[in-house]
Amino acid sequence: MTITATREAELLASVPTGLLINGQWRDSSTGKTLDVHDPATGRVLASIADGGTEDALAALDAASAAQAGWARTAPRVRAEILRKAFELVTERAEDFALLMTLEMGKPLAEARGEVAYGAEFLRWYSEETVRDYGRYLTTPEGKNKILVQRKPVGPCLLITPWNFPLAMATRKVGPAVAAGCTMVLKPAKLTPLTSQLFAAVMLEAGLPAGVLNVVAGSSASAISGPLLADPRLRKVSFTGSTEVGKRLMADAANNVLRTSMELGGNAPFIVFDDADLDKAVEGAVAAKMRNMGEACTAANRFLVQDTVAAEFSALLAARIGALTTGRGTEAGVDVGPMIEEKARTNIHALVTDAVAAGATVLTGGDVVPGDGFFYQPTVLGNVPNDAAILSQEIFGPVAPITTFTDEDDAARIANSTEYGLASYVYSRDFSTFLRMSEKLEFGMVGFNAGVISNAAAPFGGVKHSGLGREGGAEGIAEYTTTQYLGIADPYAG
Ligand code: NAP
Repeated sequence: MTITATREAELLASVPTGLLINGQWRDSSTGKTLDVHDPATGRVLASIADGGTEDALAALDAASAAQAGWARTAPRVRAEILRKAFELVTERAEDFALLMTLEMGKPLAEARGEVAYGAEFLRWYSEETVRDYGRYLTTPEGKNKILVQRKPVGPCLLITPWNFPLAMATRKVGPAVAAGCTMVLKPAKLTPLTSQLFAAVMLEAGLPAGVLNVVAGSSASAISGPLLADPRLRKVSFTGSTEVGKRLMADAANNVLRTSMELGGNAPFIVFDDADLDKAVEGAVAAKMRNMGEACTAANRFLVQDTVAAEFSALLAARIGALTTGRGTEAGVDVGPMIEEKARTNIHALVTDAVAAGATVLTGGDVVPGDGFFYQPTVLGNVPNDAAILSQEIFGPVAPITTFTDEDDAARIANSTEYGLASYVYSRDFSTFLRMSEKLEFGMVGFNAGVISNAAAPFGGVKHSGLGREGGAEGIAEYTTTQYLGIADPYAG
């Protein structure tokens, strides 16, 4: 289907432009607005209210006032709101997909995939809402009773990045709603429109005023700073860079806040010589090129057993070299633009540095001239182990390949990073995978699979990749606190 300018304009006109506070869309207290751009063309898509400190505090007032009543709602009521939200997002899948393509740049087919993935957190947590079990037991000496119940942690600040505008919001809002928490959502200033539309859908699904408040703004710290210092806030859940995450953890410490941190990654994609190389290349393209490489789970380093490195490199270069770059709304486009010029400059600097250190350009290797922030899909062979591109998050469509000799060597190289989010292993031998999973210091390990994110799975990292898990049964636990009731021996009289 061709996306016409009229279709784009009508969709953009349907997105609320205010701050969502206590169920009302309002202007910013300063009257300022924030422009949102299309990274494929640079044009302004919309201007929305530019929230600041006063607005953030008004949002926390609303979240705080709504907390006690919301915590008392029947789990079934919360479950049905989430289920309705799942249905509404699914019905409006084309709108959400196009909106993400417009403000973030990803190809429409991928945006549709994100809608399905993001909506699934609403369905999954609607199902989890009614299964948030506690426990009841007798003390070991056989007299008193122990009752353990889970309660909502309280008002939360949810901070999301620009790369998955819908899924990063639903992955937090879904379990927070399920647990009975109220919240202030702060989307990234580069891609706030999807969260604005998502919040409208949550209201339509029946979410009461004050439960979800949304404050986008040009200064993230003007919004987060006062909230993190406010005693009414009980939790911060953040997805973004390790650098910002550490800063937020330091601020959260002063207020002893619960924290969930989904931070950066440096995923190794490990190919053993017994792997099905065609499947490994397919998996590599998915793990590298999904979202133009702008994903925390993106394969950042290809570690290939030396005996098959030349063959794998040639196959991967042929596949990646054949990908089409362009505006995500156009048919046949595989790779959209980078989010902004600064990001593209960083990517090119890493490529140039690797080539100067001895890497070979097998395909791509340069910026695409003209409008938008496009970068050529790139494969680099023979990358030296000390090249910066292997230790930093590339966040772009560049696949650097290096080699290893055996399992221990692969594990040593893979673990030689401060990150520990996703990792991937390709082999025909399940015992190779099991041994590697014991050795790999990563929160997630894929086996012959290039995409492993799923609402039912606990997503998260170790080391500097973060704390806590999103998705699965673990995801709701991040929004609950445990209360223990010590009950005297009922026979004691
Ligand atoms: P970022 O710069 O850390 O921004 C993430 C969010 O934090 C945005 O909403 C941003 O707001 C906000 N922020 C920035 N500075 C802040 C500050 N001083 N105080 C409070 N909030 C602040 O990261 P990004 O560039 O958007 O996203 C890319 C990073 O996210 C990568 O490192 C990627 O690996 C990571 N990521 C991790 C996961 C995961 O699940 N582990 C998932 C996706 C992405 P503004 O943008 O409005 O300034």
